[in-house]
Amino acid sequence: MIILKFGGTSVSTHERLETICTIVQEEKERQPVVVVSAIRGVTDLLLSLPSASVNERKSIFVQIRGLHGKLLDQYDSSLQDQVLPFLEQCEQEIQKILASKKKNSELSDAIVSYGEIMSSYLIATVMDHFGISAKAIKATELIVTDNEFGSAEFLPKETTAKTKAILDPLLKEGIVPVITGFIGSTSNGKVTTLGRGGSDYSAAIIGYALSAEEIQIWTDVDGIYSADPRFIKDAKLLPQVSYREAAELAAFGAKVLHPRTIRPAMQKNIPVRVCNTLNPTNEGTIITKDIAVEKRIAAIATKKHITLVTIYSTEMLFKKGFLAEVFALFTKHHISVDLVSVSEVSVSISLENDEHLSAAMADLKAIGTVTRSESCGMIALIGEGVGSVGHIMHTVFSTFESNNIVTQMISQSTANINISLVIPSEQIDTAVVLLHARLINQKGAK
Ligand code: ADP
Ligand code: ASP
Ligand code: MG
Repeated sequence: MIILKFGGTSVSTHERLETICTIVQEEKERQPVVVVSAIRGVTDLLLSLPSASVNERKSIFVQIRGLHGKLLDQYDSSLQDQVLPFLEQCEQEIQKILASKKKNSELSDAIVSYGEIMSSYLIATVMDHFGISAKAIKATELIVTDNEFGSAEFLPKETTAKTKAILDPLLKEGIVPVITGFIGSTSNGKVTTLGRGGSDYSAAIIGYALSAEEIQIWTDVDGIYSADPRFIKDAKLLPQVSYREAAELAAFGAKVLHPRTIRPAMQKNIPVRVCNTLNPTNEGTIITKDIAVEKRIAAIATKKHITLVTIYSTEMLFKKGFLAEVFALFTKHHISVDLVSVSEVSVSISLENDEHLSAAMADLKAIGTVTRSESCGMIALIGEGVGSVGHIMHTVFSTFESNNIVTQMISQSTANINISLVIPSEQIDTAVVLLHARLINQKGAK
């Protein structure tokens, strides 16, 4: 069996929906299981509902109806008669949740889940219309998560049991499940989400639970490139990428995959393929455990607007467990750390801007002098054996020096897969253009 995940852009025009039907038809022999995102734009609209005024809410609902209606206009009235009442029912349920007394993050997850609930129903109905026997399934019935609303983690044992119990009989009957991406539910039935862009992760989780033969992520580019192809026009398409490279790329900012997607696939050694709905005959990028390259800079990923926190303490010199104390504080405040660099008397940590950071800073001040620089950016050079590729650091530093780019922190581990540098956020665009040209396309001064 094979998992086919279609992202927001892949489900947002009726031409794309027809491409999806063709892809599903062609994979019929391999028992396709479909995972879908919300229609592009719907998630943001739903997220804006809780803080909107009554009038603003009316206009948001009109826009959400419009985004779905635009797709339905292309089909005959029987299909519309089936989908429109469902969308109306969803709207009423959202209104009820808005009026409820749920806590902020819980409320937001319950509301935003309707993006995928509506799209999966619409897409399953369109598939039926095309003669594919399909059924919309809410992942709240399959994926069991912890209580971390907004960024929940799945529980493998419980999820596997539920997913198999519900999907196996459908697959045996030749029905294509069309599952909501992005969402799950706690063991006591509260709706959770897996983080923005989380439908990729949903596909990997379902693939893990069903021990799929392949997980395909269908998006709007031909595969994984050596840099974001929207920004670097001559970025190179990578036919093969290792799990480690893909995981690093996703973690360090490449939006093409949700950061947690690779882990479940890697645990069961399931290949992940990234393909383009706009160019379906292209092979895409295949992500597997081993690749036939010993050392390379495969790609450059970037993150902007990150924070650099430095804790300085002379006690660090003599004290055992100092670092443990620092990291325990980040754990206490639910803050996840990206890069770390340590000297005799200081530790620098880079992290994504986090609402909990101010509270953590107050605690950190009890163990040392703390400085915080906002507006930093991170640039990561990623590839198997990247540290063994000659001249990298020389090229990086000479490029930075001749373009007045200031390095604020460097991190490279013996895992030899990633060299990361923190520089001012406003210099990230220049740095990625220059380093991509010099290190990947081998153009210009070294
Ligand atoms: P979807 O809606 O299908 O989930 P996303 O917008 O989340 O699609 O991810 C696809 C986008 O990821 C591409 O349009 C591209 O701009 C961006 N991207 C960033 N880095 C890379 C990269 N290294 N390779 C391919 N795409 C990338
Ligand atoms: N719809 C969700 C989002 O926009 C999840 C996804 O598209 O993967 O973040
Ligand atoms: Mg995405």
